[in-house]
Amino acid sequence: MIIETVQGDITHQQVDAIVNAANESLLGGGGVDGAIHRAAGPDLLLECRTLGGCPTGAAKVTGAYRLPAKYIIHTVGPIWQGGGHSEAELLSGCYRNSLAIASELQLQSLAFPAISTGIFGYPLVEATKIAIATVKNAQFSGELVRFVCFDAETENTYRRLLA
Ligand code: ADP
Repeated sequence: MIIETVQGDITHQQVDAIVNAANESLLGGGGVDGAIHRAAGPDLLLECRTLGGCPTGAAKVTGAYRLPAKYIIHTVGPIWQGGGHSEAELLSGCYRNSLAIASELQLQSLAFPAISTGIFGYPLVEATKIAIATVKNAQFSGELVRFVCFDAETENTYRRLLA
């Protein structure tokens, strides 16, 4: 498995599935979630409404509609509350459970955003360490995992910690 990092917009990625950093309602929000819903189009929300939400740390899959990807895996990162509320285990679960769905669907390539590091306030370096360690330790049957970083600070952090 190849692990790589790029700076860019996750909605443009030509991979089998992109991961959405959603909230428990799965009904859209700000940040990367809003960008994915805008780019995928309104049919995504219709499918999300049938899913009944998603607990923090878990993941659910939908179609990708107008996106170049085939699927969107929606996962819900923890809101940072200082570190004493199982945030690390929940964040690790987001990566692990997303990779498990991708393996089940026999997908070859998957792109992740920096889950929880925006509106949800997870400290970037800690979140990046968890993202990398969880992906490295996961049993993903596919070929490629790409970390898509929206800003330069996130990309630099991923690059440094992957090296
Ligand atoms: P959370 O609520 O899980 O913190 P956010 O969407 O607020 O989710 O932020 C998660 C990360 O996604 C942040 O690094 C943010 O800059 C980034 N992000 C925002 N829009 C996009 C996008 N279109 N593509 C990739 N990453 C994005």
